[in-house]
Order: sequence, then C-alpha cells, then structure tokens
Amino acid sequence: MLELLKKSAMEQYKALKNKEVTAVELTQGALDRIKSIDEKLGAFNSLTEEIALKTAKKADEKIAKGEELPLLAGVPLALKDNMNLIGSKTTASSKILENFVSPYNATATQKLLDNLIPIVGKANLDEFAMGSSNENSAFKKVHNPWNLNKVPGGSSGGSAASVASCEAALALGSDTGGSIRLPASFCGIVGMKPTYGKVSRYGLIAFASSLDQIGPFARTVEDAAALLEVISGYDYHDSTSLKLPVENYRESLNNDIKGKKIGLVKELIGEGLSDDVKKAIQNAVDTYKSLGAEVVEISLPNIKHSIGIYYILATAECSSNLARFDGVRYGHRTADASNLLELYCKSRAEGFGPEVKRRIMLGTYALSSGYYDAYYKKALQMRRVVYEDFLKAFEKVDALIAPTCPNTAFDLGSKTEDPLAMYLTDIATIGANLAGIPAISVPAGFDKDGMPIGLQIMSPQLTEKALFNFAYKFEQEHDYYKQLANI
Ligand code: GLN
Repeated sequence: MLELLKKSAMEQYKALKNKEVTAVELTQGALDRIKSIDEKLGAFNSLTEEIALKTAKKADEKIAKGEELPLLAGVPLALKDNMNLIGSKTTASSKILENFVSPYNATATQKLLDNLIPIVGKANLDEFAMGSSNENSAFKKVHNPWNLNKVPGGSSGGSAASVASCEAALALGSDTGGSIRLPASFCGIVGMKPTYGKVSRYGLIAFASSLDQIGPFARTVEDAAALLEVISGYDYHDSTSLKLPVENYRESLNNDIKGKKIGLVKELIGEGLSDDVKKAIQNAVDTYKSLGAEVVEISLPNIKHSIGIYYILATAECSSNLARFDGVRYGHRTADASNLLELYCKSRAEGFGPEVKRRIMLGTYALSSGYYDAYYKKALQMRRVVYEDFLKAFEKVDALIAPTCPNTAFDLGSKTEDPLAMYLTDIATIGANLAGIPAISVPAGFDKDGMPIGLQIMSPQLTEKALFNFAYKFEQEHDYYKQLANI
C-alpha cells in the first residue's frame, strides 16, 4: 500500500480506474498511514474518516458500474483546517474556533466532494493562517517530514507536510502572502497560488480578503494542475470570483518553451540568499536555457517594499475580518462576563493567540483616524506601484523566476521570538499576492543538509496554462520531485 500512496495523484487515479485497487482501500491506506506517523508530524488537527470512506465508496460504485470517473475521484486529500466541510470542525487552529462545526461546505470543498475526492482530514495551520512556520497553531506544531527538528513552513504547514509524507496525495491550502508556496518549498513539493478570483473563497475563513486565494498542493505539477481544474470556476457566493470557464491545464503541460522569455528577478537573488539556494536558482536558469528559453535579468524595483505594504494591508483587513469573533455568534464565549463589553473583550482575549492579537492591534492602528491616510492609503498606493512593476516586467518576459524563499526550512523555535525575522521569510512570495498573479513553487534541489529548495515561477494574471507549462518543463528535467522524505 505504501508503494501506491507514494505514487502521484494521477497515477493513483489511474490505478483506481484500472481496478488495481479500490478507492476504499486506498483511502483506508492513507488513513492508516496518518494514524501510524502523524503523531511525529502533527499535520492533522482532525481526521474525517467517515466522510472520506463514504466518498470513496461512492467512487467505487461508479467504477463498478463502469461509469465515467470524475477527475481525481478516489484520491485521498487533506483539507486545510480553515475551509468548511460539513461534519467536521473548522478550527483555523485557533482556540476561539476549537469547537466550531462547519455549518456549510466551502465551494472548493463542495467541488472536491462532487468529484468524489475523499477528504481524509483537516490539516494543521498557523492560527487563522497567520505565520510562516506553522508554529502559531494553538494546538500543536507541525514538523517537517525531511527533518523533524525543522519547520514545514506556514501557514499551510499541515497541508504541505501531509503531501510530502504521503499521508495524502493532494491537499488544499490558502495563500495570502505565500502560505502555499513557502511550505511547498520547505517540504519539497509543488504548491500553487492561482490568479486572484480563480478559486472561490466562499467558506474559507477570511484572513485578508483582497489577497486570500485557495490553491493546490501535490507532489507533481500535473497533479497540481488537475486539482486546480477541479476547484476553480465562477461562484455566485464569492463576489470576487471571476466569470471565466474552467480551463484544462494538463493538455498544454508539455508544450515547447523554445523561444519563450523568462525574467530572473534581480532583487530576489541578491543579498540574504543562501549559497545553496543561489546554486539551485542558477541551475534553474541553466535548465531553462537548455530548453531553448531565453533568460534575462529583470528588475522589480519596488518589490523590496512588499513586506511593508503587506503587513499594513493584511493586518488592516484581518482586524476587520476577525471582528466577527465576538463571543456571540462564533466560537468561544468567556465563562465570566458581567456585561456585553466584558463578554467581547474576555472572549477575544481568551480565544486568540499572541500573533493574531498582534495583527489585530497593528491593523486597527493602521486603520484608525489620523493614521488611515499615512498608513493604509499609502500602502494601497504602493500596492499599485508594485503591481505596475510586474506589468512592466511582463511586457518584456513571459514569466518570472525567483527563489520561493531565500533560505531552506529553519529549526523549530529559531524565529518564534523575532516576528520581523519571521515576516521576512515571505520576501519573495508576497509580490504575487499584491499583484494578484498566479505563482507556483516547484522542487528545485536540496541544500547541503538535504533540505528541499523551491523554485518560484510567476506569470501574468490568468496565464495559469503557461505557468504550469513552465513548471512542468522544469520538473521533468530533474528527478527532485521523485525524491521523497524518508518518514
Ligand atoms: N506568512 C504570511 C503571514 O504571516 C503569509 C500567510 C499566508 O499566506 N496566509 O501573514
């Protein structure tokens, strides 16, 4: 069974269609693996065994009847625990939602269920998706499957660790400033953030609504492309969702990229980059050249401001999004309040963790009268400037490449006391969120300690097809993606 669990999602899907295994067996295999190793990893907040097996059974019935099997049906998937799934708790790894049971399905979740994809459990994350190491979970830390003393990256650390350790073939994450791409790179797998508006955010617990996007995790580019096909599409329930047809990303994966132009982002390969990451990026440049693409250096002069912009906009948006957790309608309510104000204050003080409180305070400050123009409005203007840097770059090149992160996974606990150092981890990923463009992280080698390195590829809005094509071509030139964590 382990052999099968180690295969890609598309291979598992084929094995199901060829009746080499049943969906119930495969799903049970994934659940058994989680039960045997997840104590070491901490990737799951809860298992949704019944839901998974029920879905798998439906897939098996279809196979038995000889009916056409929906894409990825029967292939086990981990769902980040900030997306609603009826019959499961959706905690966002926060004490304030510890006992919150999903009242409805997120649209992305519903699409998984419609395609008969068994959801095996709810994956751990940084509380409300705020963090880069998954150490901000109120419940437990996630360990990196490649080295249990290291972080898996965040905020979708559980999603990434579960796929990297073959507890699931696929996972969904959410990416506000890098939360899919960063853990994908730290865990040696593929993680993709679509164009803003491609995937409905209905039923995703909002962090920063102008940046949040749901996206796929997988061990191969093809799997990630297939999963995006399943979850994307227009949704009436999300006003930012785009009215565009669902594309087939897989058909153009292997297109020739000869003559295409790729820009290496100058600002992201300089200072602060570890030697091993630098070498891996050089290797990627060489790979693309050998495939006939032209690689040039491109400047994004304002990308250096992206962290500053992000930490004003994201905190401002989260301070208003999280206002709904007041002890009245959702989640934890304090046991001893003598009046309404006390009920609000104590419920929130008891329910939110330190990083979430820090963000709410920063955001409320940035939005307060007198500071709104100086901080929030300025940050909005600068977001536009960063976006225009990307537009100018894409006049010259078809895609941009950069490291996903300047360094590989760091030791657990090594940055928890220094929020600024933690925030800087996202220097290379935030730009794509500010600009709303699609971006992907693909395995690009290992550092001297054997920890995975991620190559990030970014492309203009709504050019997912080209993005997957660039990613696939790179992936197929190396066997990095074939190497799995030994756990
Ligand atoms: N690490 C960033 C943060 O802490 C991004 C998180 C995310 O993308 N959800 O906000």
